Amino acid sequence: MEQFVKTLEGIKARGADHIFINGEWRPSTGNRERLSVITPHNEEEVLSYAEPSTDDVDAAVAAAREAFDKGPWPRMAPEERGGYLKKVAELLTARMPELAEAWTAQVGAVIGFTSKASYQCPGLFQFYGDLCSTYPFVDERTRSAGGKVRVVQEPAGVTAAVTPWNAPLVLLIYKVSAGLAAGCTIVAKPSPETPIDAHILAECIAEAGLPKGVFNMLPAGREVGDYLIRHPGIDKISFTGSTAAGKHIAGVAAERLARVSLELGGKSAALLLDDADMSQVLPSLVPYSMPITGQVCFSLTRVLVPSSRKDEMVDAYRDAVSKVKVGDPFAADSGMGPLAMKRQLDRVLGYIEKGKAEGAKLALGGGRPADLNRGFFVEPTIFTDVDPDMTIAREEIFGPVVSFIEYSDEEDMIAKANHSDYGLHGAVYTQDPERGYQIAREYRTGSVTVNGMVVDIEMPFGGFKQSGLGREGGIEGLETYMETKTIYFA
Ligand code: NAD
Repeated sequence: MEQFVKTLEGIKARGADHIFINGEWRPSTGNRERLSVITPHNEEEVLSYAEPSTDDVDAAVAAAREAFDKGPWPRMAPEERGGYLKKVAELLTARMPELAEAWTAQVGAVIGFTSKASYQCPGLFQFYGDLCSTYPFVDERTRSAGGKVRVVQEPAGVTAAVTPWNAPLVLLIYKVSAGLAAGCTIVAKPSPETPIDAHILAECIAEAGLPKGVFNMLPAGREVGDYLIRHPGIDKISFTGSTAAGKHIAGVAAERLARVSLELGGKSAALLLDDADMSQVLPSLVPYSMPITGQVCFSLTRVLVPSSRKDEMVDAYRDAVSKVKVGDPFAADSGMGPLAMKRQLDRVLGYIEKGKAEGAKLALGGGRPADLNRGFFVEPTIFTDVDPDMTIAREEIFGPVVSFIEYSDEEDMIAKANHSDYGLHGAVYTQDPERGYQIAREYRTGSVTVNGMVVDIEMPFGGFKQSGLGREGGIEGLETYMETKTIYFA
C-alpha cells in the first residue's frame, strides 16, 4: 500500500474536499453529507470528504461551457489536441504503480490484475492522441449534381462523464480520452466510493497544461449526479453503470434530446461447444467468469454446456476455481480479493440464497470464507442445473457466482444464450474457429471472443439490448463524441 499512502497524503495535503474546476483545485462548497472511501479488504475508512454541492456542479458546467463556446480546445487542429493527450499518457505512465494500488485499495481487485490492467489508462490517451492525427475529421466530397461539399466531424459539446466504482479510472478514461480527442469539454463525476484515481487523472491533466475549463472533476453521489445530467448546459451524457440508472438517464436525456451513450450491465455467456478442449477453455474462463470478484460488466457468468459433457466440464471448472486463493488483494499470491463494499456483499449473498431457493444446485462456495473474518469476502460460487428462467440466470449479480446451464443441441444453445435482456460480451469455445465465428454471429451481443477472452481498448466495446447504447474504445468510441455537419459550396 506504499504508493496508495503516498497518493492519499498528496490528496489530504491539498485538501480532501478539493475538486478540480476551471483548471484549478478548489474546496467544494458542499456541507450536506460527508462521503467515505473504505478499503474493502479491512473495512477501514481511508478518506472522508464533503460531497460537492449543486453550486459546484453549476460552476463546473459553466467552466466547461465557457471552454467549449469560447476557448481554444474545440477550435484547435486535432493534431494539437492529440499532442496534449499524448502528454497526459506520458504522465499517467509514470504513475502506473499508484494507479494500480489505488484500484486495489478502493475496489479490492487483486494487485496482480490491477498492475497489468492499469496500462489501459495511458493506453487510451495514447491511442486517441494518435488517432487525432489520422482520423478524417474533414471529408471532401463532390455532389453528383456538381459542387464541392465538406462533411466535417464536430465535437458533441459539453459532456457529463458519469462512471461506476468497479474499474474507476479505466472506465472514466474511456470517456475522457475519446471526448477530449473529439474536442468536447468534460465534467467528470466519478463514483463517490472511488474518487482517488480521478484525483490522479486531474493532476496529470493539469500538469499537461490543457486549457482551463476543458476538464473538470467532482466525485459525488446519485442526487448530485442527477442534477448534473439534468443540467441544460450539458450537451452530451456519457454514462457507465447499472441498467436501471441507464434507463433513467436515457429518459432524462430524451426530454431535451441531449446526446447520450450508455455502457450498462451484462449477463454474458460462455458457449462451450461439444468439441471444446477444457485445457484450452480454463485459462480464460476461470479468470474471466469472475474478474474483480465478479464485479465486471463483461464477466462470463453463464456457462452453457452440452448435456453429453456436462459433468466432465463442471468438474474441470470447479477443480480449477477451487484452487483460486481468496485473500488480501495486495498479496502477490491472492487470485481473488473481497467484494468492493458491504452493499455488494449483501447483494451477492442475497442472490446465492435466491439460487438455492429456486432449485439450482450449489457445486462450490455459497457463503463467506471461514478464515477471513474482516473484509467483504465471499466464496467463489458455482451453481449447476440452472434453468435459464431462474433469477440467477437472468439478473446481473455482480459477484463471483457462475451458473451452468445445459443445452441439447446447437439451436437450443443459441436460444438459451439469447434468452437474456442483456447482450454485452460472450465467448465461444471450439476446436473449429470458423464454426465459432458462425455461432458468434448468431449470439445477439456486442462482442464475442472465439476461444478466449479479449477486450482491446483499440476496438469498439458496448452492448446490444439492455446492455447499452453506443460504443466506447476504438474509432467508434471517438465517433460517439462527434456530430456530423455537412457544408455545401453552392
Ligand atoms: P450505478 O448505476 O449505481 O452508478 C454508476 C454511476 O452513476 C455512479 O457514479 C453513480 O453515482 C451514478 N448515478 C447513479 N444514478 C444516477 C443518476 N440518476 N444520475 C446521475 N448519476 C447517477 O452503478 P454501480 O453500482 O456504480 O456500477 C455497477 C454497474 O455498472 C453494473 O451494472 C455494471 O455492469 C455496470 N458497468 C458497465 C460497464 C460497461 O462498460 N458496460 C462497465 C463497468 C460497469
